[in-house]
This record gives sequence, structure tokens and C-alpha cells, in this order.
Amino acid sequence: MNNAIYNFSVPVNEPVLEYLKESKERTELEKELNRQCKQEIEIPLIIGGKEIRTGDTGKVVMPHRHGHVLATYHKAGEKEVAMAVKAAKEAHKLWSNLTWTIRASILLKAADLISTKYRALMNASTMLGQSKNMYQSEIDAVCESIDFLKYNTYFAGRIYESQPRSAFNQLNRMEFRALEGFVFAVSPFNFTAIASNLNMAPVMMGNTTIWKPATTALLSNYYLMKVFTEAGLPAGVINFLPGRGSTIGNNVLKSKDMAGIHFTGSNATFNHLWSEVNKNLTAYKSYPRLVGETGGKDFIFVHPSSNPDEVAANTIRGAFEYQGQKCSAASRMYIPQSLWPELKKLIVDMANDIRMGDVTDVKNFMNAVIDEKAFDNIRGYIDYAKESKDAEIIAGGKYDKSEGYFIRPTIIQAFDPQFKTMTEEIFGPVLTVYIYPDDKLDEAIDLCDNTSPFGLTGAVFSRDRVAASKICDRLRYAAGNFYINDKPTGAIVGLQPFGGSRASGTNDKAGGEFNLVRWISPRTIKETFVPVKDYKYPYMKEE
Ligand code: NAD
Repeated sequence: MNNAIYNFSVPVNEPVLEYLKESKERTELEKELNRQCKQEIEIPLIIGGKEIRTGDTGKVVMPHRHGHVLATYHKAGEKEVAMAVKAAKEAHKLWSNLTWTIRASILLKAADLISTKYRALMNASTMLGQSKNMYQSEIDAVCESIDFLKYNTYFAGRIYESQPRSAFNQLNRMEFRALEGFVFAVSPFNFTAIASNLNMAPVMMGNTTIWKPATTALLSNYYLMKVFTEAGLPAGVINFLPGRGSTIGNNVLKSKDMAGIHFTGSNATFNHLWSEVNKNLTAYKSYPRLVGETGGKDFIFVHPSSNPDEVAANTIRGAFEYQGQKCSAASRMYIPQSLWPELKKLIVDMANDIRMGDVTDVKNFMNAVIDEKAFDNIRGYIDYAKESKDAEIIAGGKYDKSEGYFIRPTIIQAFDPQFKTMTEEIFGPVLTVYIYPDDKLDEAIDLCDNTSPFGLTGAVFSRDRVAASKICDRLRYAAGNFYINDKPTGAIVGLQPFGGSRASGTNDKAGGEFNLVRWISPRTIKETFVPVKDYKYPYMKEE
């Protein structure tokens, strides 16, 4: 008999290991990188716990050495989507009715497997498949994945704990039902942890998912799926469907049981999914929950009182780590004229100093951008700036895709604050700076607020604490994650809940209660102890 009220304690964030030369973790990782480099694996679909090979295949390559094939993957078609819908519905019967602590224990076991037995595997597959260096992979594939899993169990417990009061002659309670149907989890290439969480957050709350992983993150995502299975996740709770976004999306969205979308990716894709849902609206059993975290045009605002060394180091990390392919990466910057000569020298020297190349060479701060499409898109922006009279490239500007998709960290000085690279998301190692006159601080703050449609992350640097606070207030809607004297990237689960508004998404703050409540549909149950026997109210009996 199980009559305990469980309570999970506040999780401790997973420590980031250092990977110093000859350390245990470094030796294990090097061995695993070597092993994965020597093999080419096959990635099937996984539906209802069964591996499916469709024969319609594609290749997974290393972005930094695109001639090197890591895997052949199978693509889902209409038939497989129908199979996945059936499997997700079937698994829902068991999973949504299971005691929540069993669900939590599976998430916690997955976290421990990633922390120990599969740490090297998750890191090596993310490094090779998504072109991340050791540190970037460790903070994503390992630490953030674990933190999401652990915090979700903790926050689920807090949600389940909250119950309504009961008045005289009644007992009220809330039952936290999973959504009636399945959740469509659509993940981006850039964070292994996000791919994990887009599934595991709804799964924690008793839902089943159909997972469309990004093709360019398939290696690590396939291993994640295997870790979940080893942790005890029953067949059909997550159904893994690699393939073309449009083929899978169009067919999934037609199902009347589509109860929610958990998405992270570009603004354009989320808008498309939203309008498709709108077209199918009357077909669905319930109004689908639409949760999407999308793009950004993240800023650094420099106040004249700030320290140039601090601004420079944080700018370089914020703009160029993981080749600027973080949704939170700094991509536009406002700098006062008085600081510009000193700051320019610092950031240009640092950008030119950055080493770039293969992920297995630990001296490389940067690696390749994800694929040829991204390379060509980013190059287009650089070429546009090269040809424009409204801008000047002051660092980088070089690119080469002969062996891998490499783009030098590029800094553009824009003379027009509305210049194309100041306003559009580029999603690559390109930072555009605009220099404002010191006596036009207010106008510069307005520019920062109004230049882009996004509202994801932003930072202010200032030694004047009152000025920092005023700028923070003025930029209230410009960012869902706002930093004072820090770079706008690197949010940690449980410490800085993440998400933005405006065109950056629904801002449901992944890794916390705000997100988890989207995946439940509570039922309120009132029980009356002594029911009335007369339909008339007492005052009606007056003569
Ligand atoms: P993307 O939109 O190209 O792809 C995201 C996913 O959507 C992929 O799995 C893709 O296959 C799928 N997809 C595409 N068309 C589809 C369709 N018609 N139906 C169903 N699925 C479809 O994004 P990306 O290039 O993988 O990721 C980069 C973007 O993600 C950037 O804009 C970045 O800012 C954003 N991002 C945002 C956050 C955040 O928290 N706000 C985090 C990470 C990334």
C-alpha cells in the first residue's frame, strides 16, 4: 500500500567538471571521442519501443569535418506518424495513471545515468554531431540535461502539493490530470538538454510524446532516447521520429489527439505550427497547449560608467561561444562614444585571438557552424555588410567551408542603428555594434528597446548602480532574461528560469513550475457530506 506524501528536496545543480589534462573525465572522454569517430551507426525510428527502419535514409556528418559520416538515419513518413500516434495513445493509459513518484524516479535515474555511465557518451556525441567544444558540451548535454530532469521532479511535487481549501460540509481536492492526448515535442539542433526537456517535462506530468528531433542533432538525441529507455521509460511514452519537419509536422497536427506542442526553434517554424493548429482547431478534442521558445536578437547595453575589461571579456563569450548559435547569444551592442576607442581595441584583439577548428583540439574556443544552410545564411549577412556603406567589418569577416563550416568571429560596426544586422536574427558568430553619443543615452535605450521584434535576453554593463536599475526598468519588455554586469548567455536551470516574450516565444520558463503547469489539465472534485433534500431556500417559506 502506498499512502505516503512524497516530497523531493531542492536539487543541487550538477557540477561542471574541469576536464584538465589527464583527469579521469578527460581520459574517458578522449577514449569515447576516439571510439565514436571510428564508427558509423544506424539510427532507426523508435515507435512504441520498437526500432523501425524505413529505408528512406539520410546522413549525419560532423559540421567541422563534413566529409566524415557519423550515422545513417531513417526518415519517418505518413505511415510511421500514424503508428506513433497510436503508440502514444496506448502508452498514455499506463503512464498517465502511474503514481507520479515512479515517473519521477525514472527521470532521476536518467539524470544519474547521464552523470555517470553515459557522461562521456553524451558529451562525445554532442561534440562530434553538433560541433561543440568540451566545455560547451559539458554545460549542455550533461549538466543542463541533468538539472532539467531533477528540477522537473522537484517542481512537479510542488504543483501536486497545492490543493484547494474545503469549507463546511464538503471536501475539495484537485486531481492533476495529464493532457488528454499526446504532446508533439519539436526540438532544435543547438542544445541536447533542450531536446531532452521538451519531452521529459510533459512526460513528468504524465503525458506521452511524439518527438521530432532536429536532423543536425540526431546523434546525441538518439543516445538520449536510449538512456531514457535504460532508465525504465515504458514503450510508447516517447516516440522518436527523425525525418522531414514538414512531413512529420503536417501529419501529426492532423490528429484529433494532438493535445499540445512543446517547441524550441526558429520563430518562422513556430509561427507555421501555430497557424496549422489554427486551421485544424475544430478537429481537436481539446484546445492544444502551444508552448514555444523561439529566436532572439540579444543585446548588450554599455553605460558610460562601465569597466571596459569586464565588458570586453563578457562580450566575446556572450557573442561567440558555440559560434553564436545560442538563442541567447549577444548579437547587437550599444556602446557610448567615450568608451569606444578602448573597448574597440579590446574586443577586436580578443576576437582576432580566438582559435577555431576541430572539437577534439582543446585549444579551440570556437568550432564550426551547424550545416551548409546556416553557413550560407551567415555568410550572406557578412557579405551584405562588406558591400554596405552603412557598416564596416572591424574583425573577422572570413569564412571557409571546404573542410568544415567555419566562420571567423565577426564584428560589424553599424553607422545606422537600424542596419540589417542590428535587427535580424543571424544565429552565427556575428556581433554588430552601434556607437551612441554619451549625451544621447535616453535615445540609445529607446533604440535598444525598439530595434528588434524579439525579447529574449539582454545585458546592461554599468558601475553606476542607479543607472543600471533605471535601464533595467526602461527595458522591461526587451528581454525575458535580463543581466546586470554579466553576459546574456548561460542561464542555469533552477537559478535563472529561461524564456522571452515578444517574438521570442510564449515565455513559459523551461525547467520550472510555469512550464510544467502547461502539461496538466486539473480536475476539481467537490464532495458534499450532507446533501440538501429540499429544492426551496428557507426564506421562500415565509408567509
Ligand atoms: P528550426 O525552426 O529550423 O527547427 C526546429 C525544429 O523544427 C527542427 O526539429 C525542425 O526539423 C523542425 N521543423 C521545421 N519545420 C517543421 C514543420 N513544418 N513541422 C514540424 N517541425 C518542423 O530551428 P533550429 O535551426 O533547429 O534552431 C535555431 C533556432 O532556435 C533559432 O532561431 C534560436 O534562436 C532558436 N532557439 C530558441 C531557444 C529559446 O529558448 N528561445 C533555444 C534554442 C534555440
